Amino acid sequence: MNIIYEGKAKRLYSTDEPNEILMEFKDDATAFNGKKKAVFENKGLINKRITLILYRLLEKSGIKTHFVRDIDDTRCIVRKVEIIPLEVVVRNVAAGSLSKRTGLEEGTQLSEPMLEFYYKKDELGDPMLAPTHIRELKLATAEEMDDIGKKSAVINSVLTEFFAKSGFRLVDFKLEFGREEPERKNIILADEISPDSCRIWDLDSGEILDKDRFRRDLGDVMESYQRILEGIGAHAENS
Ligand code: UDP
Repeated sequence: MNIIYEGKAKRLYSTDEPNEILMEFKDDATAFNGKKKAVFENKGLINKRITLILYRLLEKSGIKTHFVRDIDDTRCIVRKVEIIPLEVVVRNVAAGSLSKRTGLEEGTQLSEPMLEFYYKKDELGDPMLAPTHIRELKLATAEEMDDIGKKSAVINSVLTEFFAKSGFRLVDFKLEFGREEPERKNIILADEISPDSCRIWDLDSGEILDKDRFRRDLGDVMESYQRILEGIGAHAENS
């Protein structure tokens, strides 16, 4: 198998099927644009399981994802897409860069969900982009941006409700979308949805259970990821 892309937390391989690729979840973790690094045993396995639970839930709600079929602990087959180079961030509660930029205290419930776009470009440090920048750079058409906005809102409602039922507060998360190959007409959800790409707090205590445990050296990173997996796993069946 040929590696076609290696990112910070995943590897992509080509397969015999031209429109399918193999996605492997790695145990490597990075933060602060790759400046902080670590390896966590079983992270790949846990993140893949969490991602697939959430994909299934979203598919049931009419959100098409790139998932095709599962293979083993850390690998699955996904549809090939042309990734739109945007990190789509949805926020329900102030935290992280939003708190830094605006002064809103971490933990402040936002009056309505907030959508932000960041340019997926490591050399530029993934800057935030306004819709005018996205148009000028021709990263996506106005129609595609409209579609991404609507899909992100549905994804947020479905995930927020599901996490709450499972005992967690979905603070914010990052999505990536792609144009389904070979036509590149349909926009589908790609990448992962895991504690690496979401902020998830315990609903009652507010305890941080996501990648901020690694970013902020809080310890027990995998124990927290496992707790999320068990919590949502218990509720996935009846959702
Ligand atoms: N996020 C991500 N990848 C990135 C940047 C952010 O998955 O390259 C996620 C992050 O885990 C959080 C949300 O997007 O759930 C919002 O992140 P924020 O803008 O607050 O940035 P941070 O301060 O975490 O770098």
